[in-house]
Amino acid sequence: MDVRNCKGCGKLFNYLQGPPLCPACAKSLDDKFDEVKEYIYEHPRVEMQEVSEVFNVSIAQIKQWIREERLSFSDDSMIGLDCEGCGVSIKTGRYCKACKDRLARGFESLYPKPVLKQRPADPRENPRMRFLDRDRNN
Ligand SMILES: [Zn+2]
Ligand SMILES: [Zn+2]
Repeated sequence: MDVRNCKGCGKLFNYLQGPPLCPACAKSLDDKFDEVKEYIYEHPRVEMQEVSEVFNVSIAQIKQWIREERLSFSDDSMIGLDCEGCGVSIKTGRYCKACKDRLARGFESLYPKPVLKQRPADPRENPRMRFLDRDRNN
């Protein structure tokens, strides 16, 4: 049995999974989430700081919801997160569209491609052929 202190109220509870919150605190966080979502829907240009003060939730918690794609903001909203891939401002999730596309194609391509070693020049090769070859590859 995994007994932990609730991060919200400090009470001991039976930890199962997810955030370390007792059922009561998890429920109230969920309720708060619904209120926050509603509020942002009605005030699309609200700032994170204001949401944090109105609802007494931490900015970290708001960002967490955005990262989980549970909250999103309109394109002209002041609220933004940094893409974890390239750092541009995004409205929801963890990555911008470009990085998501890159990730979809394979995780490694998120990093710059290693510079390909040039083939050692073959003296027997016709220099004109090599020129054409390079052009074709570009
Ligand atoms: Zn609690
Ligand atoms: Zn990005």
